[in-house]
Amino acid sequence: LHEYQSKELFSNAGIPILKGMVANSPQQAREIAKQLQGDQWVVKAQVHAGGRGKAGGVKLANNLDDVELITSKMLGSRLITKQTDQTGLPINLVYIESATQIKFEFYLSLVIDRSKESWTFIASSEGGVDIEMVAEKTPEKITKYTIDPLIGIDAHQLSLMADKMNLDIHLQEQFAIILNKIFVLAKNTDASQVEINPLIVDQNDTFFALDAKIVVEDNSLFRQSELVLLKDSSQENDIELRASENG
Ligand code: ADP
Ligand code: MG
Repeated sequence: LHEYQSKELFSNAGIPILKGMVANSPQQAREIAKQLQGDQWVVKAQVHAGGRGKAGGVKLANNLDDVELITSKMLGSRLITKQTDQTGLPINLVYIESATQIKFEFYLSLVIDRSKESWTFIASSEGGVDIEMVAEKTPEKITKYTIDPLIGIDAHQLSLMADKMNLDIHLQEQFAIILNKIFVLAKNTDASQVEINPLIVDQNDTFFALDAKIVVEDNSLFRQSELVLLKDSSQENDIELRASENG
């Protein structure tokens, strides 16, 4: 799913996100920014790949003209990131979101761990960066918890995770609530992965999912008809094309 689609599902599941809306024209982007109010926005290319920030696919706008200009440059172009091939992916939509100050950045994901036949939470105090890099260079900064499918989420394990991320008591509570909601969302959407990178804490000590990724398990699509409708073939075709080109 795209970030904007995942964020809508997050919002419905009670996982905190910032205000934002998707646009397919510079004028629409401007209108959305005006509607969101505030004085800073981010324009985010909607492509099925991460690493957009470093590739110029996430840009800060300081005024409405900026929002329009950045959007006009992004729309119709292709974004090449670390996770795409050299031809990149087409940008047909941008997400306009209120910009926020970031006090802390975390990595958080829930994945199906097939070897353990269950779900595993992966969290790190090093958010907003390549998690593979963190795993390689500073593995001690990553904490994992595999859910026992017969018991469900163990509150004590969540507080251990929060502890390892140096969260104070107040934030620990918010963190546990978010993890519980992610688990419910993942089960309801048959997701093989839900990833938030970064999950941030702002100046008011409130968590927000600044990025959102949901990967729906292909084998479950037969019972996820609403999610099938969210599939963006402009991104999927490219991936299939690439797969066939690569043999
Ligand atoms: P990607 O992972 O594809 O690079 P992200 O959504 O994670 O895209 O955005 C990249 C970076 O841009 C984030 O790590 C964060 O630092 C910054 N960013 C994203 N959204 C916002 C926002 N609404 N306000 C402030 N900074 C943001
Ligand atoms: Mg990200």
